[in-house]
Amino acid sequence: MTVDQIRLSIFLGVLVLMLVLESFIPRHPTVDSKPRRLAINFSLTGFNVLLVRGLLGGAAVGMAHFAGQQGWGLLNYLDWPVPLEMAMGVVFLDLMIYLQHVVLHMIPFFWRFHKVHHSDLDLDVSSGFRFHPLEILGSMIYKLGLVAALGPSVMTVVVFEVILSGMAMFTHSNIKLPLGLDRTLRWLFVTPDMHRIHHSVEVDETNSNYGFNISIWDRLLGTYIHDGKKPQPEIVIGIPEFRTPQQVSLLKLMLIPFQSTR
Ligand SMILES: [Zn+2]
Ligand SMILES: [Zn+2]
Repeated sequence: MTVDQIRLSIFLGVLVLMLVLESFIPRHPTVDSKPRRLAINFSLTGFNVLLVRGLLGGAAVGMAHFAGQQGWGLLNYLDWPVPLEMAMGVVFLDLMIYLQHVVLHMIPFFWRFHKVHHSDLDLDVSSGFRFHPLEILGSMIYKLGLVAALGPSVMTVVVFEVILSGMAMFTHSNIKLPLGLDRTLRWLFVTPDMHRIHHSVEVDETNSNYGFNISIWDRLLGTYIHDGKKPQPEIVIGIPEFRTPQQVSLLKLMLIPFQSTR
């Protein structure tokens, strides 16, 4: 199997597992039609994959390869043992995308694009890939800069990308984990309950729990909320601006960043 086939198998495996778990042990009642949302979110996913492949095909991995050849980046300079380098690379990249996420919320220009992710009226495995194409492109360019500066190995970048997409499906999924398991996992990792608070319509809750994979950045930097104002099944998901399915059709999602905000 090639690396691409392994990535695709892990992606499909996690996707199917989450869809099955969501149907058996849902955590949160839904307000919008699931088939309709899946169609919108996966159309966006498909478009974004084609866009990134078309414009920057394999760019992060290519950049890691190039930086390695050129001896660019901190990790190429330090020459650490491979397992240590991979672990440090993954943790550092995770911190940097946590910081990127804070910036997406704090700077109004970036929030215009990130709002599309938060406009989902329900959360499930498909929400993990609901991003405006221009946010995806911006994130790719940011990631290329990070890889050039850090100089992780090609394998580190691949492992990070696989973890990130697998965790995006898990943390957005509408599954009810046993409370004890949620609590234990949360010491180190982001769980669906933790990320659902980030998607709450309450502004102070939207501006919390920014982590993607590791939960410690939120704890260390004071952006962690353990419990929202409402119990998990009653959390109102979304943002105040968009409260009906009609406001968040696929076409309208594409236009959200360009609307005037009053
Ligand atoms: Zn966010
Ligand atoms: Zn999210």
